[in-house]
Amino acid sequence: MDLKDRVAIITGAASGIGKEIAFRHAEAGGIPVIADLNLDQANATAEEIKAKGGQAFAVAMNVTDEDQVEKGVADTVAKYGKVDILVSNAGIQIVHPLVDFPFAEWKKLLSIHLDGAFLTTKACLKYMYKANYGRVVYMGSVHSHEASKLKAPYVTAKHGLLGLARVLAKEGAEHNVTANVVCPGFVMTPLVEKQIPEQARALGISEADVVSKVMLKDTVDGQFTTVDDVANAVLFFAGATSNVYTGQSLVVSHGWFMQ
Ligand code: NAD
Repeated sequence: MDLKDRVAIITGAASGIGKEIAFRHAEAGGIPVIADLNLDQANATAEEIKAKGGQAFAVAMNVTDEDQVEKGVADTVAKYGKVDILVSNAGIQIVHPLVDFPFAEWKKLLSIHLDGAFLTTKACLKYMYKANYGRVVYMGSVHSHEASKLKAPYVTAKHGLLGLARVLAKEGAEHNVTANVVCPGFVMTPLVEKQIPEQARALGISEADVVSKVMLKDTVDGQFTTVDDVANAVLFFAGATSNVYTGQSLVVSHGWFMQ
């Protein structure tokens, strides 16, 4: 894998899945840039990595704000001279039945997942094209392929990332830039912990039933996917040494969705 000294901007890396990707990238000799809305937590993550002997850099970035995205990417390039990898991972979840979904919440979710992926991609590409190298990985979901009740904007956004990755796979090829999507099943992170009571209320079932009868119902073994499982898949695409993997999506879900 080609990760050593590779500079990776990882959005939403102050928590959950993104944080694990940052740790694992640093362990592989790469330089993660922790780009997050929450600068205090991003700084704390960077310090934890440095305390373990790795390199890391924290930048404040709301992925829906073009100026902040451009600045975070420019600051990264000013510090390290390049950006080799983008992991577009920042995301949120909001659940309501479609019939009641507040328009403002629909727009907020789509903006973080889709505008965020677009703006960070666009900002990184100008440097990647100049360098003739780039690996872009989008954080999709089983919901890039499957639907669930209550998750209209999330399912819409995660399906949309497949389209973005496929366009970039075609446009980026002549610049040695690949684009792929990693699609996890449920991973126990703050994003999911918050959803369990919300879904229990919305569906009128117990929290234990949300886990066993909704979240893990269609897995082959009733197991959660782990942050480690997801980081492995991301680093697989991020460290690929050729265009062999591009425009692909890899589902990491204990068989919940089978391609
Ligand atoms: P998390 O809540 O633990 O972490 C999300 C991070 O994103 C937080 O640090 C938060 O501050 C940051 N963030 C939120 N809005 C932002 C914005 N506008 N700009 C920059 N940063 C922002 O969540 P997680 O579970 O680690 O999720 C990470 C990604 O993985 C999301 O895209 C999510 O949809 C996806 N995913 C999660 C699961 C799961 O089960 N946890 C499954 C499939 C996909």
